[in-house]
Amino acid sequence: MNKPIKRVVIAGGGTAGWMAAASLSKLLGKHLSVTLVESDLIPTVGVGEATIPTLHILHQLLGINEAEFMASTNATFKLGISFENWRDVGKDYIHSFGYLGQECWACGFHHFWRKGQELGIAKDIGDYCLEHLASREGRFAIMANQDLNHAYHLDAGLYAKYLQELAFKHGCVRVEGKIDHVNLDENDGFITGIRLDNGKLVEGDLFIDCTGFRALLIEQALHTGYDDWSHYLPCNSAIAVQTETVGTPPAYTRSIARESGWQWRIPLQNRTGNGLVFCDKYMTDEEAIDTLMNNIEGKPLNQPRVIKYKTGSRRKHWNKNCIAIGLSSGFIEPLESTGIHLFQKSIVRLLQMFPHTGINDADVAEFNKQTKEEIDNIRDFIILHYHLTDRRDSAFWRYCASMPIPDTLTHRMALFKQSGRVFKKAEELFGESSWVQVMMGQGLIPDQYHPIVDMMTEQELQAFLTNIEQNVKKKVASWPPHMQFIDHYCKSKMM
Ligand code: FAD
Repeated sequence: MNKPIKRVVIAGGGTAGWMAAASLSKLLGKHLSVTLVESDLIPTVGVGEATIPTLHILHQLLGINEAEFMASTNATFKLGISFENWRDVGKDYIHSFGYLGQECWACGFHHFWRKGQELGIAKDIGDYCLEHLASREGRFAIMANQDLNHAYHLDAGLYAKYLQELAFKHGCVRVEGKIDHVNLDENDGFITGIRLDNGKLVEGDLFIDCTGFRALLIEQALHTGYDDWSHYLPCNSAIAVQTETVGTPPAYTRSIARESGWQWRIPLQNRTGNGLVFCDKYMTDEEAIDTLMNNIEGKPLNQPRVIKYKTGSRRKHWNKNCIAIGLSSGFIEPLESTGIHLFQKSIVRLLQMFPHTGINDADVAEFNKQTKEEIDNIRDFIILHYHLTDRRDSAFWRYCASMPIPDTLTHRMALFKQSGRVFKKAEELFGESSWVQVMMGQGLIPDQYHPIVDMMTEQELQAFLTNIEQNVKKKVASWPPHMQFIDHYCKSKMM
């Protein structure tokens, strides 16, 4: 247990594995050997192409040049997600990465907007947010003193390759082979090595399980356990297919609710990623393939693929000398593109708590506590989209609207409904602006606004709202179209 950690072994080379390898070798590599084991015979899951702005944190640590990385991964910009038919068929809204309106010490901008609505002087809430309007108008810019909160749509395979090159540059070694056994110490049950089908044994002090849904180390060898959240998030299947792009790629992901799930459209520079997430209790795989293929725009570039999963979370993300990163640690679902975020967050957390002198219980407990809190909060945010809906047009949506939800989410919804209040917790990814956009987008409007709003006269409130709205409009109108910006800044190397 108190053995110094000198040799890190990463099992699996998908996005999670190569992200961990690049980070550990670049940021702690002088003191460690980093080895990644993967098998060419076992493909990566090959999805995971929409990201959120927190990716900048890791990219900055890794010294990644944005324009160069985007050109290498056929990436486009993402300013948010358009949720279509979620509240009800024909009702759409955008969850943008931006902040709404202007901050006030006592309450959020939506309180001012709420009174403005009552008086008939407020516009759509998105008109008070740069990222929201820029998404709708298809414009984008990066400026010296004002960055738009943005993320990327990227090619998952090219991104893993990009991270792989970075890892190699910093000394990571790749070992090819199929893992067929995990050796455990007979006294403490710690992992001592990974045996491959070609006879090689890869030994180490710390093991990172990035083997995807198989979870070969954390589950199959260490039997860590899994909390199943299917009762909250019933979707358990996805179909993915790539198509040629039709029209101009928007700077947002499209999430279109369907009869028993939802469809994603992720625009890259050279193609579009499409998928249907659904629950196989309400729809067969064949019906899902038909639904997806009848709702794509361009010519398919590959055969539709079925992916099965169980929504939930590993009971411990760090168990003995093994840390699960990626799909091996659990999977919520891709609705808010939180997968890659969770990988990078666990990697940064591990770097911050790196057990160089040996693994101790306190570090392990703290790592697991922080990771669990963050995942639980994301889970609640995702459930919100499904549960808070007026849709009753299929058995799936009727289930979602009536299903039991965590008490933590019930409380958040009641608090917002009664007083318009929303608070960001410690270890929480989604802030006030995200909760407000989704709760209001799904139809939950607060019963009242904060009394500080009444400190303004009606004329003052009107001037306040108009000023913000006009400023947003003027700025967005001055930016180039999204694809024009991409052509100048980061045009794909492959086009
Ligand atoms: P994988 O890609 O499955 O990689 C596993 C690796 O382990 C592979 O290299 C494989 O060769 C290796 N391996 C497995 N078994 C063995 C063995 N026996 N021996 C040797 N090697 C082995 N996240 C987002 O952030 N945004 C999204 O939009 C998004 N969409 C998603 C959509 C779906 C349908 C799913 C399922 C997930 C999505 N995710 C998304 C989550 C996540 O980003 C991706 O799934 C991720 O890219 C892949 O994670 P991974 O590296 O953990 O696993």
